This record gives sequence, C-alpha cells and structure tokens, in this order.
Amino acid sequence: MPKSPAWAKNVVKQVLWTAIDRELTPREVDALWANFGSACAYCGASLRRGDKSAHKDHLLPVELGGTNHISNRVLSCAACNEKEKRDEPWLDFLTRKVPDRALFDARKTKIEVWRQQHADSFVPVSAGVREIWIQEKDRLACEIELSLTRVRAAKRGP
Ligand SMILES: [Zn+2]
Repeated sequence: MPKSPAWAKNVVKQVLWTAIDRELTPREVDALWANFGSACAYCGASLRRGDKSAHKDHLLPVELGGTNHISNRVLSCAACNEKEKRDEPWLDFLTRKVPDRALFDARKTKIEVWRQQHADSFVPVSAGVREIWIQEKDRLACEIELSLTRVRAAKRGP
C-alpha cells in the first residue's frame, strides 16, 4: 500500500486499537491457519503463511463494534478482505460470494463453529474505552491533515 495520508490514518487507528485490544498471539495465529486449512474462509483460495495476501480478517470490523479477539477472526485472502467484503456483514458477503449451496453451508458452519469454540475467552472492549479510541484516532487523523497542510505550505514558500 502506498504511504498515503489514508494509509497513515489507518496505521494510527490500528496502533491505538492494539493498545486497548491485544492482537492474536503466535499460538492463536497457528490455530487460525490450522482451522481454516491455509485457505480463505470465504472464497477458499489457498494461502501461504508470510504471504502479504493472507489476512486475518475481522468478521465484524472494529469500526462497527468488533474486536481483535480470535472468535472474530478468520483467514482471508486480500481480495475478499480488502476489495470485496470491506464493511459488509460477513454472512451477507459469504452468501454473495458462494452461490453453491453445499459449499456455502460448509464454509458458514466452519466459521460458526470457530466462533463458538472461542466464545468463552471473549473479553469485550467497553463502550467508554471505544469512545476514547474514536476520539483519539479522529484527533490524530485531523493532526495528520494539519501537518500535511503546513509542510505543503512550507514547500510552496512565503
Ligand atoms: Zn477469498
């Protein structure tokens, strides 16, 4: 991804979120790869570890109330995660993506069983903490814009 203002804001957002909601441990990442058989949970594309196109997708995006918890994560290819699903509810996306009924049922069940397996360890992020995160990420996004304006003005000169 090019180092654009949008990229910088996204990095800031993720860094702040990880400070209040830990990322998956290496052991949890192992479990994710094993459970989804090194394949995209949505389209079934084969994935390789360490490959940039292998994503740990959030079933419910953090912006819409999701967390980094393992019960909210599935293995996904970059195309499904970044380009196609985006903020669409995962079940709607899966329905659209997999017209074959048997295949759809198998993938939906695999995701639901995975969520159920890890439901017990789920720790929610409180609404108050989430609100502070929204304020801080928005404030820093604003600061990025202001800094860009200042450095561009400096380059143009007086
Ligand atoms: Zn995919």
